[in-house]
Amino acid sequence: MDLAYQQCINPDCNATYSVSEVHVACAQCGALLDIRYDWQRVAVPKSMAFFEHRWMTKGESGPGVLDFSGVWRFRELLPFYRTESDIVTVGEGRTNLQQAHLLAPQIGLNKGRLFLQYEGLNPSGSFKDNGMTAAFTHARMVGARRVACASTGNTSASLALYAALSQIPGVVFIGSGKIAYGKLSQALDYGALTLQIQGDFDACLRRVRQIAVDRPDLGIYLMNSVNPFRLEGQKAIMYRVLEAMNWEVPDWIVVPGGNLGNCSAFGKAFSEMQCLGLIKKVPRLAVIQASGANPLYELVTQKGLKWNGGRFDRKRVAEYYGQLDGADVHAHTIASAIEIGRPVNLPKALRSLDFMQGVVRQVDDETILEHKAMVGRFGFGCEPASAASVAGAHLLVEEGLIGRDERVVCILTGHLLKDPDATVKYHTGVDMKAVQEKAPRQEPKGRLACRPVPVPDDLEAVVRALQ
Ligand SMILES: *Cc1c(COP(=O)(O)O)cnc(C)c1O
Ligand SMILES: [Zn+2]
Repeated sequence: MDLAYQQCINPDCNATYSVSEVHVACAQCGALLDIRYDWQRVAVPKSMAFFEHRWMTKGESGPGVLDFSGVWRFRELLPFYRTESDIVTVGEGRTNLQQAHLLAPQIGLNKGRLFLQYEGLNPSGSFKDNGMTAAFTHARMVGARRVACASTGNTSASLALYAALSQIPGVVFIGSGKIAYGKLSQALDYGALTLQIQGDFDACLRRVRQIAVDRPDLGIYLMNSVNPFRLEGQKAIMYRVLEAMNWEVPDWIVVPGGNLGNCSAFGKAFSEMQCLGLIKKVPRLAVIQASGANPLYELVTQKGLKWNGGRFDRKRVAEYYGQLDGADVHAHTIASAIEIGRPVNLPKALRSLDFMQGVVRQVDDETILEHKAMVGRFGFGCEPASAASVAGAHLLVEEGLIGRDERVVCILTGHLLKDPDATVKYHTGVDMKAVQEKAPRQEPKGRLACRPVPVPDDLEAVVRALQ
């Protein structure tokens, strides 16, 4: 028997599946799946400090490859792999928690109370690498032939990097005209087959899920965050935050919300650490959305949607989405990484909010850009979506919900250089996208040129592009 299994999160179903199976949803009821462990049989250390010790020790041959990773250093907390040789790692998660003492007073917090977790320092420049290393490990375990994702940019960059390094061919579906140049350039340079679908992110995700499920002949393993193995890797962001804070649990974790994978993973991380007796306190969670892409905000803060032990009001969600469809409303924000209208991890996000006494807020694009510039002025900078967390923390301090003396950790999800256009436009007023569109196009001449393939949002056309 494996130590790990997959389990449906719907309490009226609870179906389980082996970790050697590949599912994008519960085969019984269609709900999301969780990775669960038989903790009795896992050699979990007695204290989190064990992991820090591992980081410091140098064996005969130096720290092992796994100890070099900020994800696999905590491998006892995500033991779904069969053997260590399954693990696909590039040394992700060597990130930095900045005590942002210059920024703290700017958003109303006392000195020493604001911390910024720079996940942009990952190999592909966003937190996505934490999850990709885990999902690629599963892909290798099950012998996946090809991996694919829909992406607003960073997932494709991360997938393409891991695909290149593990030599599992990668395909990325991106919405046409939506992706930031820094991210597109990564997918192309790492050599992924890049399909530019004529639609938005939500359309891309529908297509790639359809292909993964309905066309097994194409051998596509889905890498979006419906893949529960990705969330296992993303738990490590919280382990590292605690480590950097000397294992003292902060009062608040503030994170931008798009497809809601990260906030889902964070709740699972804290819930497991608490069950295992590794922490005594759980921080509160704040999920921040852009006001132009705010389904979680609308559903939770406006319409009072609650996890309700897993029996959340599905009808209310369907009605709300139906209204948006009826009015042809699409997500729209400068923070392209969170420009998502139908977040797939909504149920798990509700669960995290419930467990971590969470709140959801929205911030507009102008506020996001102002806070992005403030982060840049006092540190290493971040991309627009990341700054939503700082803008949201500021708002919550102004509301008085976050006390000036509480310890607040904002997750900066992506690197400043991911979206240079947004930054240049903010500082100069010049819209580089418009300039690029007017420039004459030439055929690429490079020997390794990897051109994006334009594809209509149509199943047959997508299948042809993959054959
Ligand atoms: C993916 C991404 C997000 C959104 O994270 P979710 O887990 O989808 O909510 C936020 N910021 C950046 C930079 C991202 O790449
Ligand atoms: Zn189920």
